[in-house]
Amino acid sequence: MTGAATTGAGRRTHADPLVRQVIGGEESEAAAGERFETVNPWTQAPAAEVVLSGEEDVARAVAAARAAFDEGPWPRLGFAARGRLLHALADAIDAHAEELAMADCIDVGKPITMLREFEVPRSAVNFRVFADHARLSTAEAFPNDLGLTVYTRYEPAGVVAAIVPWNVPLMMLSWKIAPALAWGNTVVVKPAEDSPASASLLARLASEVGIPPGVINVVHGFGPDSAGQFLTESPGIDRVTFTGETGTGRAIGRAAAGNLVPVSLELGGKSAHVVCGDVDLAAAAGLAARASFMNSGQICFAGNRILVEQGAYEEFLRRFAGAAEALRVGDPADPATEVGTLSSCKHFEKVSSYLDGDAFAGGRLVAGGPGDGWAVRPTIVADVPADSPLWREEIFGPVATVAPFESEVEAIAAANDSEYGLSALVSTDSNARASRLVAALDAGLVWVNTFPFRDPRAPYGGSGSSGVGREGGTFSRDFFTEPKQVVIQP
Ligand code: NAD
Repeated sequence: MTGAATTGAGRRTHADPLVRQVIGGEESEAAAGERFETVNPWTQAPAAEVVLSGEEDVARAVAAARAAFDEGPWPRLGFAARGRLLHALADAIDAHAEELAMADCIDVGKPITMLREFEVPRSAVNFRVFADHARLSTAEAFPNDLGLTVYTRYEPAGVVAAIVPWNVPLMMLSWKIAPALAWGNTVVVKPAEDSPASASLLARLASEVGIPPGVINVVHGFGPDSAGQFLTESPGIDRVTFTGETGTGRAIGRAAAGNLVPVSLELGGKSAHVVCGDVDLAAAAGLAARASFMNSGQICFAGNRILVEQGAYEEFLRRFAGAAEALRVGDPADPATEVGTLSSCKHFEKVSSYLDGDAFAGGRLVAGGPGDGWAVRPTIVADVPADSPLWREEIFGPVATVAPFESEVEAIAAANDSEYGLSALVSTDSNARASRLVAALDAGLVWVNTFPFRDPRAPYGGSGSSGVGREGGTFSRDFFTEPKQVVIQP
């Protein structure tokens, strides 16, 4: 395995400067020999060259996954043997954690401590959990009066296309492919163009632990007219699982409809956080800072549309500003850094366009603003009008918007007044209030006084512009299999 190195200038670069596609167990160049470059967003220097997979490469990857599914051992190994290999892959992730963490740190400027302590270990956990979940799952039997034996079998669906974003590269990939593999499918993965390195490293680890060739294939490139579109439009795939922007989700949904292929879409969000006046405001402010600024706010379920009960409003703002200003912004590779840079120049420009005073639409800046290079300091804008883009649109950066509410009814209406339905947070010390709010909020996931733990066995996904379908536990099983009803006359 290759590692990351620090150059004389203190800049970290990939020691292996070329990220290759992985098809049928072989790391290769593209048929047309084309490449593109990634940039380390902290140093703004080139990070690596990446193989640009063309239409022919994507077709070859799909064919390799098909051959591994139709003729290879993977779907026929059984849950226990597959599970042992997926556990071995999880162990390999742990053993190569530093290299995987550094790959995502360099590619998208994520704090290394967050990768070391959370994202890389959680990626390994995903492989273990979904392997065990598949092995231990039950299937329904249906008692009937005819004396027939009726039950369900969950057959693997076939070749799965997994298209992932750059904001949690390795962890998101593991979340998608672990259940797909555990249920006996083969996969073709297209990581985001800004974060290709960890996917190719993962495929190499899979090969080293003995996962057969063609089970995990990785193609690299962009979305439209590139590897992403070639993959989602391929007639050779049986499922598409996608995480990314809502607009991209619509395009992918159309492509999947064209081939009549089931699609799972985990899309954008603009999550509300309802802060009730009864709560310990220091704790609520700390929670709001975590939910708004973790990963520089580049989290789909960031809780950055904050509604605070009127009587607690000014004190909450003061404490929230203090918590935001205490966060250490800086070099993502420094273990003390809590907020890194934004992922790319393009994304920095998008987030910065919301920080122009005019965009505040009368709101007041309470903390933050531009940082060094492509970083933005944790930013809080208060009194934001409900019809402003700042309040309504997914900024996907460390920008929190805050507004007061008078009554619970008003808070629920304001929280639900959004095209998105991904997640919501509630801060309250009252069980009764928590129960009412949990029931009333339109969201696929609600946290009460905590963030961001998610149980991989529980449903995950959103409604409205946040997506279609759920993944996690049996929801992943249902998506990645073709359930079969069996009726036997004994
Ligand atoms: P994006 O939609 O721009 O790109 C995601 C992936 O799709 C990339 O690999 C990209 O190359 C590919 N792609 C783009 N256009 C395509 C097309 N026409 N056909 C096929 N593939 C295409 O998203 P992003 O900027 O990488 O990620 C940020 C977005 O992801 C945010 O909106 C965020 O909310 C969302 N997200 C959602 C979740 C969730 O669980 N709901 C989790 C993480 C991120």
